[in-house]
Amino acid sequence: MAFSQRRGEREALLAEIEGDVRETARQTGLSRLPDVVRTAIARVPRHCFVRPSDDAHAYENRALPIDHGQTISQPYIVAVMTALCGAGPGKRILEIGTGCGYQAAVLAETGAVVYSIEVVPPLARSAAQTLEALGYGSPDVVLREGDGRQGWPEAAPFDAILVAAAAERMPSALGEQLAVGGTLVFPMGPAYPRRSFPSGQTLCAVDKQSDGSFRTRKLIPVAFVPLVAPGRIS
Ligand code: SAH
Repeated sequence: MAFSQRRGEREALLAEIEGDVRETARQTGLSRLPDVVRTAIARVPRHCFVRPSDDAHAYENRALPIDHGQTISQPYIVAVMTALCGAGPGKRILEIGTGCGYQAAVLAETGAVVYSIEVVPPLARSAAQTLEALGYGSPDVVLREGDGRQGWPEAAPFDAILVAAAAERMPSALGEQLAVGGTLVFPMGPAYPRRSFPSGQTLCAVDKQSDGSFRTRKLIPVAFVPLVAPGRIS
């Protein structure tokens, strides 16, 4: 039901995202979105993840507030991060910061197996409900409540890791849990950016080389909520 609703709005949003992707191709290295990412954005009903009061804005290409002072990311950023992760069938992807669950749903739609960790317990519970109701349940999407900075050692290694909250540096546990040849995508920069640009944060893609070292590509300016210790958000 939800998937057949508001398709036209999703198609229009996708066209807008593709325009932004072309404009930022030089910085991101992505000349276009892979087909699996286009299909995923066109399918996932973003209106099921926003607050009821934001229903009319669900298909605008911008971040929106969710409960507990957190956000649902801008669709263009979700699409770019999904593409940078190399998301696709059979890929095992760890997400840090489930929030409302929209990014996890987009990753799952590409055919990836998603592990996602959220530090705020009520957000973790409501994301689980939303995802389950839309059919993005276990074993395609596995959720955990806890501190994502520790990663998910029992499920490692991951083909890609997507961090949806900002940090000054990549948490070392996450680098260890990334497979060789894999990519970790994260917003690097100060914890509390100004609400407007420039926030001081940069989206980075960190590639794990065959000798275990990391190569970091600095891509585009972004503004994410901070990666925090458990208990800091209530
Ligand atoms: N992925 C979301 C956006 C996430 S907002 C989307 O689909 O749009 C960032 C989320 O990271 C918030 O929900 C915040 O509570 C969470 N977060 C912050 N620090 C964290 C940590 N240490 N571990 C796990 N989640 C964390």
